[in-house]
Amino acid sequence: MQFDVLTLFPEMFVTTKQSILGKAQEKNLIKINTVNIRDFSNNKHKKVDDTPYGGGAGMVIMPDVVYRAYKSIEAKNAKVIYMSPQGKTLNQEKVVELSKQEHIIILCGHYEGIDQRVIDKIVDEEISIGDYVLTGGELPAMVLIDSVSRYVENVLTQESIKEETFSQGLLEYPQYTRPEIFEGKEVPQVLLSGHHKNISDWRKQQSIKVTFLKRPDLLKKYKLSKDEQEYLEKIKRSVDKNTPLKNKKEVEF
Ligand code: SAM
Repeated sequence: MQFDVLTLFPEMFVTTKQSILGKAQEKNLIKINTVNIRDFSNNKHKKVDDTPYGGGAGMVIMPDVVYRAYKSIEAKNAKVIYMSPQGKTLNQEKVVELSKQEHIIILCGHYEGIDQRVIDKIVDEEISIGDYVLTGGELPAMVLIDSVSRYVENVLTQESIKEETFSQGLLEYPQYTRPEIFEGKEVPQVLLSGHHKNISDWRKQQSIKVTFLKRPDLLKKYKLSKDEQEYLEKIKRSVDKNTPLKNKKEVEF
């Protein structure tokens, strides 16, 4: 899978050379290429922005320079995404959908943003990483690349993404590793039993429990089996008795 990123700050993408993304690039599973928008400025001072028409604070990136940068990429069948706080918020469903693309071009804004005309001309979709405003689209672009790359074949083992948070509509169960006793706290005995069915049942129950406690909104969309429903009722009763909740609404269905 190929990512081309249109940015004024390509140096920021050094982070994508580390860890799992770095290895995925070494193995040619993904390719991350940055295009410096500034290289396409015709101005002798390499100016890329100007004051907004109509007045107001800050600077706006000019459309022609962005367009030339975009045209420098071989973009046949590529999906063009503008990272923007005005876009649809990224979630796991979108991540999985995007991982099926072969080529994604990501446009990163900066300052007050980008002239609307070039956005209208080249962008297929605007994506936000949350309801807050960042100084630029580079960190959001890296969030998108990282989350999407995890779903590209062979970047991770299927096992690691199968049960993790959001992949089946629930949060993941708690994880434990050595030592068996840490500061007097033991690893749950069932995990040491070697009994696969008991471990898997325990993990499913823990998933339901943490989802109920941390993100009850997710449980509304999840179809529980009869046993799971019974388990959930048990948790609800124990939480009602033992846990003083700040906001009772948190656990209401
Ligand atoms: N003036 C713009 C507005 O009010 O909608 C905000 C511009 S922001 C300071 C500069 C750039 O950062 C944007 O063009 C966008 O590329 C990026 N950006 C900021 N917040 C973002 C978010 N939550 N998700 C994705 N991109 C974001």
